[in-house]
Amino acid sequence: MQNRHKLIVLITAILLFGFLAVSLLTYRSSKLSIHEAIVINELPLTSASINSKIQEDLVGSIETSSMMASNTFLKDWVARGEKDETVIKQYLTETKRQSHALASYFISEKTRNYYSSDAKTKKVIENTEADSWYFKVRSANKPYELFIERNARYGNQLAIFVNYRMFDQANEYIGVVGVGIAYNKAQKLLESYEKRFKYKVYFVDKNGIIMLASDQDRPLGADIDNLLGIKDIHFNPKNLANLNIENNKIHTYQLGERAQNVIVRYVPELHWYLIAEKSETDALAGITRSLYNNLLLCLLITSIVVTLTYMALKRYHYAVENAAAIDKLTDLPNRKAFDIGMSVMMQDSQRNKTALGLLLLDLDYFKKVNDNNGHLAGDTVLKQTAETIIATIRAEDFVCRWGGEEFLIVVRDCDAVRLMLLAEKIRSAIQVANFSYLDKSIAVTVSIGAAVRLHDEGVEQLIHRADSALYQAKHAGRNQSILAS
Ligand code: GH3
Ligand code: MG
Ligand code: MG
Repeated sequence: MQNRHKLIVLITAILLFGFLAVSLLTYRSSKLSIHEAIVINELPLTSASINSKIQEDLVGSIETSSMMASNTFLKDWVARGEKDETVIKQYLTETKRQSHALASYFISEKTRNYYSSDAKTKKVIENTEADSWYFKVRSANKPYELFIERNARYGNQLAIFVNYRMFDQANEYIGVVGVGIAYNKAQKLLESYEKRFKYKVYFVDKNGIIMLASDQDRPLGADIDNLLGIKDIHFNPKNLANLNIENNKIHTYQLGERAQNVIVRYVPELHWYLIAEKSETDALAGITRSLYNNLLLCLLITSIVVTLTYMALKRYHYAVENAAAIDKLTDLPNRKAFDIGMSVMMQDSQRNKTALGLLLLDLDYFKKVNDNNGHLAGDTVLKQTAETIIATIRAEDFVCRWGGEEFLIVVRDCDAVRLMLLAEKIRSAIQVANFSYLDKSIAVTVSIGAAVRLHDEGVEQLIHRADSALYQAKHAGRNQSILAS
């Protein structure tokens, strides 16, 4: 019974452990491959394709204004004294149309006139907030400057202005040309990427200020140094220039529960960094769900297998109990087991030429034990008697319940003297043993008949002689051992 439960617990543990291990290993490897898919393939590819799309829009405008800056017609027109305003207007309108820009403009250094494709010509005035950008570009030490701002001249919508410094044939500074493209055009592109692939994509300048973004968490103008997650990985934008930009560096950081992968790519034309982020948690949701399904299935299979095993064991145990040679009350072998065991022991003793002793033990006045204390008390005494015998004999000796309140002990390699010593040992052990039932102590004694197997003696004859000796012991007053002649 005890063993059966142990077996069930063991089978449950093995099944659960096996299933759990397989499920978790599968989960882990799926997780790793998702991580690899994101980090090795998706992120670099996405950032590359966004980069090339952005090139079309932003870099295209840079090229347009660069071409305008080197346009000889414009230079000639300035050199001839900026005479016919309709000519420049026409030129700017045409440039704007060709580059799908929001605006196209030229500011002359000589006259400080601001010519535009759309708005009226006006003067830029130094030390005013509105025109400060011009003076910034004018004193810049690189060919062009990007600004993102709202301009009242172009309906106040947010735009990216690409401003090129312009020089005449003699390499004298003559002003600034530029195009403005609607900011939301680029933003829409980012939005579509975010929606389709669940990315956060945005651009930061060299100071780590977000220049172009569409995500609420990554607002325009924010310093990424202060943004959650990014700042935690010490992704210092001031050090962006030191990043190995050739090999699109991947940073992984933890944003709350979410593992977030970040890739940075430098866009030289804009002097900006394109940052793409993707969370692994979203991608993991699917395999996490399948992990739970697996575990549930494991539990189901385990409980089915365990139930079936339990039922089979129960049936098996029932069958074994009935067919087997074990006595249910004392857990000793029974007469059937003796028949099987005895022939082996007989052959052994014959082959090895060793003596074989036999003790037949019967409880004295056991009927009274039952009468005085009840049948259950009698059962308990039988059990305790069996335990006492087991504790007294050697491991290689054999004991069985012969029937009722009789026990039979086969002692190997044993002569008459040692057999009688053992018989007395058992008898006195039972006499002094403190048997009890429900706290009531019950004293019993036994009578023992002993016989050493004679040469060529059969089992039946041997038992018969032991039985006779037992009969003598009873008649001689019980509680004693007698050796058969
Ligand atoms: P003696 O000293 O002559 O052996 O007297 P006794 O009373 O032991 O002998 P007897 O053969 O008259 O009675 C044996 C009793 O053992 C009768 C029976 O009820 C009881 N007995 C046999 N098997 C069991 C058992 O499994 N459980 C219980 N409680 N009693 C049993
Ligand atoms: Mg008897
Ligand atoms: Mg008896």
